[in-house]
This record gives sequence, structure tokens and C-alpha cells, in this order.
Amino acid sequence: MKLFRTLIPLDEALKTVLSYAKRTEIEEFRFDDALNRVLAEDVCSPADSPPFDRAAMDGYAIKGEDSFGASQNNPVFLRKKSRRGEKEKEKEKENEIEIGEGEYLHIQTGMQLPKGSNAVVMLEYAKERGTELELFKPVTPGKNVSFKGEDVKKGEEVLKEGRLLRAHDIGMFASLFKTKVKVYKRAKVGIISTGDELLDPKESFEGEKKIADVNSYVLEALLKKIASPYRIGIVRDDYEEIKNAIRFSLEEGCDGLLISGGSSVGKRDFIADVVEDLGKLVFHGVAIRPGEPTGFGVINNKPVFVLPGYPVATISAFEMLVRPFLYAIHGVKEPRGKIFAMASKKIPSAVGRTDFVRVKLLCTENGYYAEPIRVSGSGILSSMTKSDGFVVIEENKEGVEEGEKVEVNVWEW
Ligand code: AMP
Ligand code: MG
Repeated sequence: MKLFRTLIPLDEALKTVLSYAKRTEIEEFRFDDALNRVLAEDVCSPADSPPFDRAAMDGYAIKGEDSFGASQNNPVFLRKKSRRGEKEKEKEKENEIEIGEGEYLHIQTGMQLPKGSNAVVMLEYAKERGTELELFKPVTPGKNVSFKGEDVKKGEEVLKEGRLLRAHDIGMFASLFKTKVKVYKRAKVGIISTGDELLDPKESFEGEKKIADVNSYVLEALLKKIASPYRIGIVRDDYEEIKNAIRFSLEEGCDGLLISGGSSVGKRDFIADVVEDLGKLVFHGVAIRPGEPTGFGVINNKPVFVLPGYPVATISAFEMLVRPFLYAIHGVKEPRGKIFAMASKKIPSAVGRTDFVRVKLLCTENGYYAEPIRVSGSGILSSMTKSDGFVVIEENKEGVEEGEKVEVNVWEW
């Protein structure tokens, strides 16, 4: 049963939505607050890292050539570098200490290699006796040394604009002493749930008679990683109330809105009409399953997504349309994590409709298998929590055969 006279294909809906995507501004942030922000600059290293040749092990810094010929039966003896004398002490302070031929110095991991040395002998391959080091093994020059610029060279590009910053990147900023980073501002996205039957789970418990507002919480959680969510809450199925809630959210400075429920073509489904009333409804009805009653409009130049009531359908529409839109306005350039897997069984789908199929990933010796979670109806939220990700079956495909390769969009990658 089709509820809509015309359902537009997903790619057309996506193209339309993206044509309204306006980039957010750039702001400067403390590097340690920039996790999950989108980088708005290319970051190059201002200096070599490490800044000098340094020991990669605890041991003895030597000139590798001095150890040539050393063996268990025929050890080589080196002299401890004398640190006596004011001049040497000063040099040590400035990391300018130098060892001569046949000399060694005790060194710890991470310390700068003294001039004249080019290798580190591990403690277990030598024996220190007073001011002498007995060496049982030759050490090639460069052994156990982290060379200057080995990690990152001066001027080298380490992170590109458009990067959704990860924990490791914060570490990289720290290592470069980069304490301020340019990132894209997060859009403030209002979230409204509509429905007379809905109850806020935080305020009440009446499980049997009413339905918990799932959408505003799941959408808020989905938005948190990329945007700045503003959860307005539940609004009744009342034309004026819905209108007021939309006006209120725009007055509150929302850059866009996600409104769920009331988006079908039933008697109490007003959202599309209200959007048209306050601005322009660009489309309503998309050939995706779940998620057919998805629409998009613009009010005061602000994008408004009209999302289905069923939570799984709302999530499907979010992944198919809202997430790409948010990535576009925030300038995310990296695609989300995808892996290839083999369909563990046939997944049926109709031509002319894009399917959003929740799958469980099974890791076997032969690689990954994607097991479709078979459910009917988009009210089955557990199909989401049981899944590891989703597969999109394109509009022109008549399902997927058992064993066919599919691309899995993994959650939280
Ligand atoms: P509607 O599109 O308003 O007819 O809603 C379709 C179905 O989704 C109904 O069973 C609603 O109770 C349910 N629903 C609508 N909004 C929400 C919500 N925010 N949280 C959970 N279920 C919802
Ligand atoms: Mg409703």
C-alpha cells in the first residue's frame, strides 16, 4: 500500500536536500576540546618530530662502528664518557654533550643521543664494570635510535581540512604543541516530536497505555557527535501548537529542525501542511523503506526535515538524508566506516525502492558475513540495537543473493 501519490527516489531527495546545504562558519577551539569537531584547516608540522635523534631503548649510547667485531668470546671494551669539568656540565645542560671514539654514555628511552654516538646498546647485551663497558655483540649504526623527523617532518601535512577529529588527532595536536585549532561551527538543530500518544520517559511512566517519545532522544544522541542538538520535546497533534513549536525553535536560534511523527497522510498528520504554511515544502514522500513519509522543507531559509513517526523509520531517514546533509554543512570530507561482507542469506527488495537493512556482522575465517535482521514493521527498535550496521539496497536492485558482496555501514565508526 502506497500512502503517497508520488514517492521521489532517494538519490533525487538527497540531491535536493544537499542543494540547500550551507557551510557553517569557522571558529577557533582549544585542541583538547576539539574531539568530534570537523577540522577547518590543513595542519602541517611546524618542526621535526622527534626534534632530535633520540634513544628508543634504555641502554648505552655508542658509536656503532666501535662495536664491530664484538662477540661473546671476544668482547669489545668501551670507556665511560667523563662528565667531569664545568664545561662538560654546561654542555650536558644544553644537550650538547659529545662522546669520542671508544666512549659510551648511559642513556634512557626518549633522551637525546649525545653527539658522536649513532646507536644504543640494550642493557642486556653489555656489562658495565666501573667506568668500562664490556660489549658482547656488534651494533649497527642507527640501532635503537628514533631519528629526528622520523615521526613527522617539518612542514609535513599531518591532518587535512574536513577531518572528523578523533582521539589520536588530539594527541597529534599535543605532540606538535598546537593548542588552538580551526574547526567548523556546529549547527544548532532543533528536535520536535509530535503525537498525542507520546509521553516523555523522563517525566512519567505509563508504559501500558502510552508510548514513550523515543525519537527526540535517539535523534539527540545521533546529532551529538556532529551537531549541537536542541531537544524541544513533545508537541500535541494540533496544527497551531505545531506551528508555535516551529516558530519557537527558530526564535531560539536553531539553524535547522528535525520534526518526527505526523508526517503521513492521515487525519492527524499536519506537519507537511504546517511546513508549507510557514515556508515551503520541497518534497514529501521518498521511496525508501523504512521511511516513506519523509519530507523536507525550508522555513525562513532554515532546513526542516519531516521525519516518520516510527523510530526505525526515523533512524533510516536520518542515515539516508539527514546525516549526509549534516556532513555537508559541517564539511566532513571522510566517508564513514564501511566494510565489505557477504550476505549470509538472500535479502529481498523491490525495484523502485531503496531499502535500509539492519545487519549483524559475523566474523568468520572466511571473512565477514552480514546477517539481515528480519523484521516486519518499522516499530521494532530492537532491530537497531541488535544490529552492527546497515546495508543500503539500491533502488534498481531486486534484492541481494545469498553470498553476494554487500557494503556495511558500521555503527559508530
Ligand atoms: P505517526 O507518523 O505520527 O502516525 O506515527 C507512526 C507511529 O510511530 C505511531 O505508532 C506513533 O505512536 C509512533 N511514534 C510517533 N512519534 C514517535 C516518537 N517520538 N517516539 C516513538 N514512537 C513514535
Ligand atoms: Mg502521530
